[in-house]
Amino acid sequence: MGRLQGKTILITAAAQGIGRASAIACAREGAQVFATDIAAEGLAALAGTAGIQTHRLDVRDPAAITALAAELPPLDGLFNCAGFVHHGTVLDCDDAAWEFSFDLNVKSMHRVLRAFLPGMLAKSAREQTSASVLNMASMASSIKGFPNRYAYGATKAAVIGLTKAVAADFVKQGLRCNALCPGTVDTPSLRQRIAAAADPVQAEKDFIARQPLGRLATVDDITPQVVYLLSDESRFVTGQAVLVDGGVTI
Ligand code: NAD
Repeated sequence: MGRLQGKTILITAAAQGIGRASAIACAREGAQVFATDIAAEGLAALAGTAGIQTHRLDVRDPAAITALAAELPPLDGLFNCAGFVHHGTVLDCDDAAWEFSFDLNVKSMHRVLRAFLPGMLAKSAREQTSASVLNMASMASSIKGFPNRYAYGATKAAVIGLTKAVAADFVKQGLRCNALCPGTVDTPSLRQRIAAAADPVQAEKDFIARQPLGRLATVDDITPQVVYLLSDESRFVTGQAVLVDGGVTI
């Protein structure tokens, strides 16, 4: 029997990177996964995978989130994975860039929680099960400071605060809420950041050098923690910012 057998789990930003790998890993462990993303073409590659149902969802669109919550069955698990890396210092971050980062990285989680939490709470009360929310934060800048991660670090620190608040509010109602803080993970957007650097070869070396383990994480280094935090194996874990960072914060 899978570790997520019988659970319904929604994942945002599931068309590529950590979200996609998490959808596949959760389905493999027996969950019914609702894989969502703004990128319909990326989702198409997941359609037809056993245990995965795809839905186009822009997490910046409140009406679309509300409509999807009305359409889907109540969830046992929710992985708010969507996020964007703004590159630069405070001097490179105008109001529009700040607002975009906070909207996509933080307010999206607020919207998705407002839409899906009532159903999750009702289900866990009715069935005496443990519901689990996982919010994507990051090791970079929210836990350990790095240059050129001004807006990013601010948003991911906010995700950790939001996570602890939700955990504290619903701890007695069968709902847990944790934040995931990966180190540097080899995903399409990381490859774009490397390619956009003035010296891409040096940029890749610098990203690798961050991890004392001596390499980038693969998405498969991250998904075991996702499965664990969404499963009942983590039933005594809530309000935590969980690091999977290759030793960066030793
Ligand atoms: P990625 O950045 O390669 O892909 C992001 C996905 O988000 C894409 O499929 C994109 O279509 C989707 N997306 C963008 N805007 C959206 C919107 N408005 N609504 C719905 N989906 C939208 O994936 P990744 O690198 O695995 O990053 C996923 C998350 O993990 C992000 O929150 C990121 O900050 C976080 N993270 C990544 C790393 C890393 O090194 N890659 C490290 C720590 C944390």
